Amino acid sequence: MHPNDPKSTQANSNSGGSSEAVAPRVIRSITEARDWRAAQTGSVAVAPTMGALHQGHLDLIQRARECADKVVATIFVNPAQFGKNEDLDSYPRTFDEDLARCEEAGVDMIFAPSDISMYPFDYKTWVNVEEMGSILEGEQRPDHFRGVATVVLKLFNILRPNTAVFGWKDAQQFIMLRKMVEDLNFDIEMVGVEIAREEDGLALSSRNVNLSEKHRQEATALNRALKLAHDLVENGPVHESELIIDRMRRKIQSETSAKIDYIAVTSLKTLRPLERVEPGETLIAVAARFGDTRLLDNVRV
Ligand code: AMP
Repeated sequence: MHPNDPKSTQANSNSGGSSEAVAPRVIRSITEARDWRAAQTGSVAVAPTMGALHQGHLDLIQRARECADKVVATIFVNPAQFGKNEDLDSYPRTFDEDLARCEEAGVDMIFAPSDISMYPFDYKTWVNVEEMGSILEGEQRPDHFRGVATVVLKLFNILRPNTAVFGWKDAQQFIMLRKMVEDLNFDIEMVGVEIAREEDGLALSSRNVNLSEKHRQEATALNRALKLAHDLVENGPVHESELIIDRMRRKIQSETSAKIDYIAVTSLKTLRPLERVEPGETLIAVAARFGDTRLLDNVRV
């Protein structure tokens, strides 16, 4: 980060005005994280992640810095949100690089707990956001959102943030967590950040590194299909969901070898399927497998 960049001054506001980036404090114990939080006099924003940080995560951190006095990035590959045959073992883990990126981005504290501290052997309590957690991604990945809701609620309880920042990249996750916060009366501002993309349109994802060269090329078709949907709605104007889904499906099938898990036109609020696009209230989402790598993308119209 350039020393004259105002962001770097803000990042170092704890260090007596030095222009050097300050390494975030890394906390692995829940008790220590609680103590850190209790010692804060100002507001705290948290950006929950599973690490292997890329620009999309850094955008969340940047937004978090605009929202609060102190920023926590959590790095935890949450085993509870992976199914038995999913990629928990092969999920990229790059803690040293993540630490450097957090330092540059002005993170104050990294909370990176161990699996066993988050889920001791006798762990019993799970959070389910009904309906929202069992459709779309939830239908493909049973228990995934139960794992997500549970870990985020635990992180909220440990860190007691004023603000929590999530990416629209995982739109269903964000919408579901917003509902959880509303239903359980958390006093937390939920902030959504736009999807960060490669120049060719592919949404950044920690899983992109697992794509073969061929699949990496093909994967850009997801964004093109979403752009097509967007154009159909804006310029068509086509509003029938079935028609939009069919055009998207044909585009992806003609340009890639991907296996499409779903293409859905849903309500931005409830995630229920819509027969017709409702302007300003609609999420169009796609999930597809390129080889063993499953990718998600979406657009709000
Ligand atoms: P993950 O580490 O993949 O679990 O993601 C952690 C957070 O970063 C979630 O809120 C994601 O939605 C968000 N995120 C991941 N990729 C992107 C992206 N390309 N653009 C914006 N946010 C993202």
